[in-house]
Amino acid sequence: MQRIETICVQGGYTPGNGEPRQLPIVQSTTFKYSTGSEMAKLFDLEASGYFYSRLQNPTCDAVAAKIAQLEGGTAGMLTSSGQAANFFAVFNIASCGDHVVAESSIYGGTFNLFSVTMKKMGIDFTFVSPDCSDEELEAAFRPNTKAVFGETIANPALRILDIERFAKAAHAHGVPLIVDNTFATPINCRPIEFGADIVTHSTTKYMDGHGAAVGGAIVDSGKFDWFAYKDKFPGLTTPDESYHGVTYAERFGLEGAFITKATAQLMRDFGSAQSPQSAFLLNLGLESLHVRMERHCKNAKAVAEYLSKDPKIAWVSCPELPGNIDYELARKYLPNGSCGVISFGVKGGREAAEKFMSNLKLCAIETHVADARSCCLHPASTTHRQMNDAELIAAGVSPDLIRMSCGIESAEDLIDDVRQALDAL
Ligand SMILES: *Cc1c(COP(=O)(O)O)cnc(C)c1O
Repeated sequence: MQRIETICVQGGYTPGNGEPRQLPIVQSTTFKYSTGSEMAKLFDLEASGYFYSRLQNPTCDAVAAKIAQLEGGTAGMLTSSGQAANFFAVFNIASCGDHVVAESSIYGGTFNLFSVTMKKMGIDFTFVSPDCSDEELEAAFRPNTKAVFGETIANPALRILDIERFAKAAHAHGVPLIVDNTFATPINCRPIEFGADIVTHSTTKYMDGHGAAVGGAIVDSGKFDWFAYKDKFPGLTTPDESYHGVTYAERFGLEGAFITKATAQLMRDFGSAQSPQSAFLLNLGLESLHVRMERHCKNAKAVAEYLSKDPKIAWVSCPELPGNIDYELARKYLPNGSCGVISFGVKGGREAAEKFMSNLKLCAIETHVADARSCCLHPASTTHRQMNDAELIAAGVSPDLIRMSCGIESAEDLIDDVRQALDAL
């Protein structure tokens, strides 16, 4: 088994003699066959091969295989975005009339997907606080619960998921734990090692890392025994009449069932495929992921340490700083670093925060995170500007909150930028 740095660089694609050293972009919607019967075998899922890029494409598959290796999973797939990845991961096992337990500090886009859009599809969600007691977590489950969902490091709340605890609760109820590992990346945490069954990503963030392509990924650990809870997961354990009567868990085993079903059914019907061009860009990002993550974390910690000593700063949130609410969890799950994102409050509330933001020179104002270039966002004056202070606090976003995504520039330059922006207040 290769080490993670080597997988970042060389995983997923091994060229033969005379073949391109760099991953080829197979920019083709379709694939040619000499006889109809050869193609029929592909449609029956009796042979593996390519026929249409909405379902599978060699460039995308190579990158998906790399991400699956990085996470220590058995199978992976790419999606058009992180939103599509989380939708597919849940919808692959939960349908109308089912229920899912989710941690409440998850990304706003996912929260909306679950609580509004998937709710309209008849799937009910119970959100539990990261600080819930074991009894409260237990009470969230229902007989029709099909999965538990959380983020390793919540965006932007930066709360750390107690993966082992949530996995234990999920498994006690015979359902898998799905973990969105976008912010930590497999460089800093591999949730499967702590009991997660399915891992998802917005590859738009650190994996791409250069703000170049929107994308997502799903990885299956291959460990969840669908047949042990046959009645809960009929989609995997009974024949799919929409796909030639195949029973996914039987034909593809625990290692392949989840991803094959998500591809054959959900990708076929919803078509949220990643383009080969985007997958190529994603792969370039993955080649340096291990090098970049180290620098992102180092810079974020240095800026957070600087800010925590500045009298103009009201508070700083960085899981790596002693005193942070999740410091112990970060040490357990993220011993090498968490991510490049920190948040903090400028004394003087909404107005001071807004002024501070416009004083920044190096750090750009963007609705984005996890980029090689540092960026900042003041939700109260941008994404959440329609809310008053009381509404902001209720949403867990204080009026003075600034989210800063530390890039891979010099930490000294980032600190200089923050210092001059504070001095000019
Ligand atoms: C950005 C993000 C998403 C959504 O991903 P897109 O690629 O923007 O669709 C999902 N989860 C987390 C944790 C994110 O940060």
